[in-house]
Amino acid sequence: MGTSKLADFLHFDPMDGSIPDRTPVRRYLRDLSSSFADQAACRARLQENPLLYQVTSIEDHTGTGQLHYGLGVLMPGKIGREYFMTKGHFHAWRPAAEVYIGLRGRGLMILEDERTGECRVVPLEANTVVYVPGWTAHRTVNIGEEPLVYWGIFSSEAGHDYGAIGKRNFRIVVVEKDNQPTIMDRSAFLQELGAQSS
Ligand code: MN
Repeated sequence: MGTSKLADFLHFDPMDGSIPDRTPVRRYLRDLSSSFADQAACRARLQENPLLYQVTSIEDHTGTGQLHYGLGVLMPGKIGREYFMTKGHFHAWRPAAEVYIGLRGRGLMILEDERTGECRVVPLEANTVVYVPGWTAHRTVNIGEEPLVYWGIFSSEAGHDYGAIGKRNFRIVVVEKDNQPTIMDRSAFLQELGAQSS
């Protein structure tokens, strides 16, 4: 064994998504206040400012050929009718793909291809793996009643670009409709909200 402190072995807790001696980054509603479609519902919860998710990133190894990985925990809940979700991002280095491995809970991933505009939704839950190709914005959504816990594993050179998708947001939303998680075009959902409030 060398003297390097770079981790080549870690314990993690698949129930609460914690890793001993590692500090997660936490995202609260205030960090995602422009992400949710129902802005009135969002404002009503800002004071409470619920925790939406945390990610513990392992970025010990850097440089060509190395990997970074992160353990995510997305809490259950909704803002209005829209389920708790992550901010979502492209990789700064667009060709970089990513593998997500579901450990606990019931969720979805929204994938939006920057080159074709194609938007699709795939399940992310215990015992599922999701492949996120390059050039694809990705967002995780918790549609269950317990925390959604998952690993994301990606190139150390990927980097994160939150700005590009943050400005225009994803074309699709996941909302509760007739007590069911339902995939809708954002524009159609905004029209529904507008019709209710007018
Ligand atoms: Mn990613």
